[in-house]
Amino acid sequence: MDNNNLLNAFVDKFGEGGDIRGYFTPGRVNLIGEYTDFNGGYVFPCGLTMGTYMLARKRTDRKLNMYSLNFKKNGVVQSSLDEFLKGLEKNWTMYPKGVMWAFGEKGYELNYGYDILVYGNIPNGSGLSSSASLEVLTGIMLKDMNSTNGIAGMSLQDIALIGQYAENKYVGVNCGIMDQFAVAMAKKDYAIFLDTNNLSFKYVPLKLGNYKIVISSSNKKRSLADSKYNERRSQCEKALALLQTRKNISCLCDLTVADFNEIQDVIQDDVLLRRAKHVVYENERTKNAVTALGNNNIKEFGKLMNESHSSLRDDFEVTGIELDTLVEEAEKCEGVAGSRMTGAGFGGCTVSIVRDDCIDSFIEQVGSVYQEKIGYCADFYVAGVGDGAHKIDLDARGLL
Ligand code: ADP
Ligand code: MG
Repeated sequence: MDNNNLLNAFVDKFGEGGDIRGYFTPGRVNLIGEYTDFNGGYVFPCGLTMGTYMLARKRTDRKLNMYSLNFKKNGVVQSSLDEFLKGLEKNWTMYPKGVMWAFGEKGYELNYGYDILVYGNIPNGSGLSSSASLEVLTGIMLKDMNSTNGIAGMSLQDIALIGQYAENKYVGVNCGIMDQFAVAMAKKDYAIFLDTNNLSFKYVPLKLGNYKIVISSSNKKRSLADSKYNERRSQCEKALALLQTRKNISCLCDLTVADFNEIQDVIQDDVLLRRAKHVVYENERTKNAVTALGNNNIKEFGKLMNESHSSLRDDFEVTGIELDTLVEEAEKCEGVAGSRMTGAGFGGCTVSIVRDDCIDSFIEQVGSVYQEKIGYCADFYVAGVGDGAHKIDLDARGLL
């Protein structure tokens, strides 16, 4: 699907004429730092070259006509700026509508509707943040199309925060800020070392030498994932409240591992204790992983990824047989520095660092063991590390 085809599809659905503009936002993969983002900790994601495209044209009324080439069965979904059902849309348009609603909530009033065409090549529901990609995409479109009501002055970070607000309050998933931030701010060939406590961040060159990032998709749909995600979040909050009776902290990641070990006995409940332990140790691992990468120590980086997976499996309990199989088999393969689940877990993807000359055998070996054990195929992507949210040029012929 190139931009020319996208423009043809847009004109086909909504007719010619007017000012049709195009936008792109990537998916993201988190290399390490899982479930730290709503605990005020560090994360280390990068943008992918896979992503989501939007073509849009402003209308003169308040109607919204939205069509996704990935959800053709829904046809053109029609609604308006006066009709926000807060997730009860029960279809993909709740993401863009959530962002439009959030703009209004945050004082950025929208006066006109849009004709919108969407297309994405991120596997949906796989933990590569196709939802955040669609939210930030909507945000940059709205910013670009509006010069009034303070909208033109919004930063990409403002848009990321609005995307998160939409996902939390409109879609109903209590995600942290990592996904929207990564999708908005990604940079080709860099990962983002983000402190989710204050949104300070550093671009770190992804110098992987003769290694590449390989994403393995379990193709297990994350049913129940959102409710379990929200459950983990509330368990972390409960653990924090207990720890706060012993130490003046505002989030779990304010604790070093040493601090945590000193006061952990205040948590009597074994489940809450393990949840908190994962978060505190994962935060430390993330800092250490970034240091290792800076020292070109891929081996150490990979070891920390493996430890991250074990902790997510045993202490945070968000993996499952599909993700565990992918990681266990990856660890047996030649040329694999490290492997772990990425994203919310329960299904979705793993991320592995694999030496160039071993990628084919990795895919062959992990793929066949997975198929045999789980009963269906995994998919593999050698990840390109791409730029964050940006406008795409549609020239007179609709080509880039
Ligand atoms: P993830 O963010 O891990 O990919 P989610 O379940 O959070 O998974 O988000 C996936 C949902 O986002 C899809 O079911 C769909 O509603 C919406 N979405 C993502 N990409 C697109 C797209 N290209 N077109 C329409 N909707 C999309
Ligand atoms: Mg999502």
